[in-house]
Amino acid sequence: MDYHTGLAAGFDASGYDMIVVGAGYAGAVCARRLAEACGFRVAVLERHDHVAGNAYDCLDDAGILIHQYGPHIYHTYNDRVHEFLSRFTDWSDYQHKVLANINGTLMPVPFNHTSLKLAFGDERGERLYQKLVDTFGADKKVPIMELRDKKDPDLEEVADYVYENVFLHYTMKQWGKTPDQIDPSITGRVPVFIGDDDRYFPQAPHQGMPKEGYTKLFDRMLDHDLIDVFLGVDARDILEITSKHVLVDGKPYLGEIVYTGPLDELFGLDLGALPYRTLDMQFETLDQDQFQPVATVNYTTSEDFTRISEFKLMTGQVVPGKTTIMREYPGAYEPGSGQTPYYAILEQQNLDLYQQYRKRVSGLLNFHPVGRLAEYRYYDMDAVTSSAIELSDEIIRTHS
Ligand code: FAD
Ligand code: UDP
Repeated sequence: MDYHTGLAAGFDASGYDMIVVGAGYAGAVCARRLAEACGFRVAVLERHDHVAGNAYDCLDDAGILIHQYGPHIYHTYNDRVHEFLSRFTDWSDYQHKVLANINGTLMPVPFNHTSLKLAFGDERGERLYQKLVDTFGADKKVPIMELRDKKDPDLEEVADYVYENVFLHYTMKQWGKTPDQIDPSITGRVPVFIGDDDRYFPQAPHQGMPKEGYTKLFDRMLDHDLIDVFLGVDARDILEITSKHVLVDGKPYLGEIVYTGPLDELFGLDLGALPYRTLDMQFETLDQDQFQPVATVNYTTSEDFTRISEFKLMTGQVVPGKTTIMREYPGAYEPGSGQTPYYAILEQQNLDLYQQYRKRVSGLLNFHPVGRLAEYRYYDMDAVTSSAIELSDEIIRTHS
């Protein structure tokens, strides 16, 4: 698959039925579906020098496949998403497991039956476990904020332990706030699991890693006669939003536009910047086969970083004598600083600001914001894919 670098002089947007801004999941899924279903000629504009958005992976200097923008583990309950993505990759059967380093002891997260026994001892842990089963049922997921509401002394003891040792310090590092101060859906992503399944995504029917990596998956998705991909192109250089039109190179563009970047950037942040958290990712290659027992260890009671990921353990790549790890240091995102806006901050005033930007584009029938940035959402890869499939369904309907 060949990609163009920059826009050739004489690039003519009117030769394309659709312009897609961003070559991550949201953009690539729409590009492929519209090319296939409607025979659209599609131009994908991507400001990085690579496709795959935050899911981008590549070989580092030691030849180890790393995830440049943080560890990405595919998992989904959505059969349609799985079927679509499986057209472009085979999957390894990797099942992600995470241990929390709690004052030096490694315990499974989500906190589960095993963790209870490690934290409280076999006998007491078992009694507390039975209490959880009697209260919530077996193989159930209980968000920590829900567990904290229970008035039973045993359950309070478990909730206090998990809150203090799994969530409090990690969440302070990640968000600069306590778990009570952030949207409960965020800590709800890692609920206490009442059972023995020690996978990070217990019960998710489809999980694994793309056998040849994420970038290869994108290469295949974008490899279509009707799709042209232009790398190193910031769409803001040619795109302008007015109250009635989307202008490309100063002329009203009549095709469809799928936009997957941040909405505030399109307007020069004129209503204020949408707040994000960013991560400083520190990679290190070590002269040893393996650094830690599982692919990710969360540091929930100590350190300034949140977690260490070891890529070979998730990709299954065999490279004797070397391994690459990565530490994540969270912080506030500063627009224009060159940092990456990784996590939308789901607070009411930010969502209101987002809606103000969103209103400005809602009258433009050919302009479609979609994806983790453009929708200002905390989406996993499968949820973004699902959102892009739904949007492309709508566009397909209007053109058939
Ligand atoms: P992105 O991947 O951000 O793609 C948007 C693209 O648009 C980018 O390539 C960007 O360069 C481009 N762009 C933006 N503005 C412009 C412009 N003006 N001109 C041209 N191009 C532009 N999900 C999981 O399912 N499992 C995981 O384990 C997981 N781990 C994660 C770990 C971290 C640290 C982070 C931050 C996210 C993780 N995710 C995970 C979520 C996953 O990264 C996202 O769901 C997914 O990448 C979002 O795809 P997207 O297309 O919406 O956005
Ligand atoms: N979290 C925590 N301790 C953990 C794991 C998660 O406090 O050991 C909280 C934290 O607030 C985090 C959120 O749960 O931001 C969601 O975690 P997840 O692993 O889903 O985050 P992501 O992989 O998206 O960074």
